[in-house]
Amino acid sequence: MGIVYLTGAGPGDIELLTLKAHRVILEADVIIYDRLANPKILEMAKDGCEFVYVGKEDGRHTLPQDEINEVIYQNALKHDVVVRLKGGDPFVFGRGGEEGAYLQQRDMKFEIIPGITSAISVPAYAGIPVTHRGVAVSFRVITGHESPNKEVSQIPWENFKSDDTIIFLMGLHNLNKITTKLMEIGKPANYPCAVISKGTTPEQVVIVGTLENIKQKAKGIPTPALIIVGKVVELREQLNWFKH
Ligand code: SAH
Repeated sequence: MGIVYLTGAGPGDIELLTLKAHRVILEADVIIYDRLANPKILEMAKDGCEFVYVGKEDGRHTLPQDEINEVIYQNALKHDVVVRLKGGDPFVFGRGGEEGAYLQQRDMKFEIIPGITSAISVPAYAGIPVTHRGVAVSFRVITGHESPNKEVSQIPWENFKSDDTIIFLMGLHNLNKITTKLMEIGKPANYPCAVISKGTTPEQVVIVGTLENIKQKAKGIPTPALIIVGKVVELREQLNWFKH
């Protein structure tokens, strides 16, 4: 029986991989991965390392989560070192908790290797700090996957009236609904907002706008992309450091 490393691959820039993730990738007998912002990470693996793709294309899962759990477990029965590689951090909308629990129930050894989440690093590469003294005292990271029009929402929309930063992951297809909802709860139409696509990579695109016009401006932008709403977006004017 082996060990499974539930490993964060970081947001895209290969140098944002942790030293620990790098070490286990070099040691891996098999790497089980999703669609990664940087597939070059896989090229670091040793000769003979196997690769198993269990990711999703355009929101459609190629494998349901319970089957992914079983694939990880079965590989750990056969191999010494199994790396389950996930974009960003495995516990930030990465379902790493479900995979860990599945292994724990079967007495399989596992470790978590946190990664740099896109939620913070992608805005950073766009020159947008998620908190800033006098501008935002907190930030929230929210799934944008749930439609804001859903009758019973798990998302506390009414709490978003403050100027604290809101970061939506997986929300591009709901961009219009999200911005409309934020205006409905009282945010002004000219409130700052940005969409960042393929952040931290050479293909990074940053669209800055307002709740009212961002949908139009961000039309056709490729995924992965996140949405950041808040006055911190205006700091990009001073902090836009990333040149391709
Ligand atoms: N565990 C990951 C998030 C998984 S959800 C993490 O910690 O980063 C996938 C969502 O993350 C995407 O829909 C997108 O909103 C965001 N995302 C991941 N990588 C990104 C990137 N390089 N640029 C912009 N958004 C990214």
